Amino acid sequence: MRKTVSQLTDFLALSRANPLSLSPFSEPLKAGGELQVWDTGVICIEPAEPASRDLVLSCGIHGNETAPIELCERLLKAIISGELICRQRVLLIFGNLPAINLGVRQVEENLNRLFSGAHRQGERLNQERSRAALLEQYVTRFYGARANTERLHYDLHTAIRSSRYEKFAIYPYLSDTPYARSQLAFLQHSAIDTVLLAQAPANTFSCYSAHQHGAHALTIELGQVQPFGHNEATRVAQLEHNLCRLLDTPHWQAPACDFEQLRIYKVAQEITKQSEQFCFHFSDDVSNFTTFSPTTLLATDGTHQWHVGEEPEAVVFPNADIALGHRAALMVVRTTFKAHQLD
Ligand SMILES: [Zn+2]
Repeated sequence: MRKTVSQLTDFLALSRANPLSLSPFSEPLKAGGELQVWDTGVICIEPAEPASRDLVLSCGIHGNETAPIELCERLLKAIISGELICRQRVLLIFGNLPAINLGVRQVEENLNRLFSGAHRQGERLNQERSRAALLEQYVTRFYGARANTERLHYDLHTAIRSSRYEKFAIYPYLSDTPYARSQLAFLQHSAIDTVLLAQAPANTFSCYSAHQHGAHALTIELGQVQPFGHNEATRVAQLEHNLCRLLDTPHWQAPACDFEQLRIYKVAQEITKQSEQFCFHFSDDVSNFTTFSPTTLLATDGTHQWHVGEEPEAVVFPNADIALGHRAALMVVRTTFKAHQLD
């Protein structure tokens, strides 16, 4: 049976009602081109004459991170109604629908640790692993549809805890590839003025797009987790405004980045939970980017201890409630870009 446009106007509701899969269908776009539903939570916007950017926009990779889900829903509704004329190809992804329905971060496993083939490792099979494999296929299909475009991927999240800097981005490890001034400018102009440079490859969604597809990819944290309906849209208004410009104005660029006003951090050490004896030596409710002075004892796990090194370190994503062998916290230090690290 052919689905009607009215079902598409609430694509998230349709996806939530079919959390494990949805048969593909497509509908014409008011402004010309097509809306293609590829699966539950996966919709491709194909303008008739797309400009040169291919943007993957993902949210809900963690099911309880509602602010980005609401933002993506607003963008999609604006595109469907014709209020926003989308001139770029966009793959919009609502990541983990069973977790969204349950209002939880994950059902069985952290989806954002299962990319770049990690979903194939070990014997386990679960909904999150199947979803990671499918999302990789959809991103491959999307970017693979044409060559010589600017590939972008913004993976939107919110953090479990409060943060000294409300919004921040994680720039995947790039080895010898320089950091893109255009992306740093986009972040700064979107009121995201703290950037954390990963120092090693990870199994995150943004890292996958950066490494497998050469995309400018970022994990973007937009504040603290809240239930649906409790997010203030004004807090993400600048990012939302810039995403609209990126979509409706073919060669739009954010004004140049003022590096003096950008806080750059790099990872100094990772704290990994090795046994059930693991514990932090700071309060459970510290904010992200809380800074500790040199030599402070941070955590213990049996006889193993983690201390701050020779310069002050700030903590990001501390979480003792994770699986053994997983990262319990990142410790980061301030840094600056050297000229050769920027394009
Ligand atoms: Zn998240």
